[in-house]
Amino acid sequence: MVRNEPGTRPVVGFVGLGIMGAPMARNLLLAGFPLVVWNRTAARADALAAEGAQRAVSPREVAERAQIAITMLSDSPDVEEIYRAPQGLLAGVTSHDAPVLVDMSTIAPRVARELAAEAAALGAAMLDAPVSGGDVGAREGTLSIMVGGDAAALERARPVLEALGTRVTHVGASGAGQVVKACNQIVVALTLEALGEALVLGSKAGVDPHAIVEALGGGLAASRVLEVRGPKLLARDFEPGFKLDLHAKDLAIVLATARELGVALPGTAVVEQLFHAERSRGRGEADNSTIVRALEALAQHTIGADAGAADAADTPSSDMRPTSDAEPPRVLREREQ
Ligand code: NAP
Repeated sequence: MVRNEPGTRPVVGFVGLGIMGAPMARNLLLAGFPLVVWNRTAARADALAAEGAQRAVSPREVAERAQIAITMLSDSPDVEEIYRAPQGLLAGVTSHDAPVLVDMSTIAPRVARELAAEAAALGAAMLDAPVSGGDVGAREGTLSIMVGGDAAALERARPVLEALGTRVTHVGASGAGQVVKACNQIVVALTLEALGEALVLGSKAGVDPHAIVEALGGGLAASRVLEVRGPKLLARDFEPGFKLDLHAKDLAIVLATARELGVALPGTAVVEQLFHAERSRGRGEADNSTIVRALEALAQHTIGADAGAADAADTPSSDMRPTSDAEPPRVLREREQ
């Protein structure tokens, strides 16, 4: 936590007060930073305003008033819009007193590099500083922050970032933060999928899934994903967290970057399909851990249910019901005729 003397803290601007942005902004207030906020849906700034944040009328005003201006938005086009709009952040940059612009959203590395070049042309440094640690890390101020961009600009922003996270890592030039975040999202997605496979298998074999989570947590299979998502999965709590749509967006960034570089990512490609399966069932706003429900549908088993029982909500139509050995699936019978 930052311990600057009163009066020496820079004014921080914050644009994007969603699941992540709101608690991050609150931690900045608690650390004593003067805070100027803007959110597209203005009502989402009400609570912070009541706690001492000042409202700006536009992202442009945020850049005009702040010394460090943070964005925490959904996707690349959103960040581009907030930077480039007539009332956007870049319009508020004046070269004699330019803020350090810090984008903490997860976006394409190419877009981060383009925006950093546009900011530099106006005399402002822009850092890409995406985060890992989820909504829990945002609330607790324990995020891991991976920073790409100018080292001197990072030193200006560091006291602010250290109020948001416990690890701030300078990983390279502009765009490198987003590349490392893409790496992070591969590991999180595949770990979540592996956890789902383990629980579906163990549970359908008749073992209590609570016992599986407990045992795995003490060995080499332990992970932060297991620790944070395991209990939520056992409670069948699919409230986000981290929305499936946003993680699917991240995997699209991962696979596009891989294509540009000629890198094969077979595991990520398969897991992305499970994300699509859940999106097509209307679960884009659910927590990303909902991908275990795609695995449950494939296995015809709900984690924690008696072996063989299917979740009523996931019960497939009669054409898709599993068939016994004695009765081959209808499609096979038709081919054999
Ligand atoms: P969220 O709850 O959906 O919030 C998104 C925020 O962006 C909202 O404040 C929204 O404004 C704003 N926004 C989106 N598009 C906009 C646009 N075109 N113009 C202006 N404002 C716009 O998402 P989140 O979970 O906080 O995630 C934010 C970013 O952090 C994403 O890039 C995500 O991938 C990343 N991330 C999330 C997690 C997590 O666990 N949730 C973890 C690490 C990283 P409104 O309020 O008006 O909708």
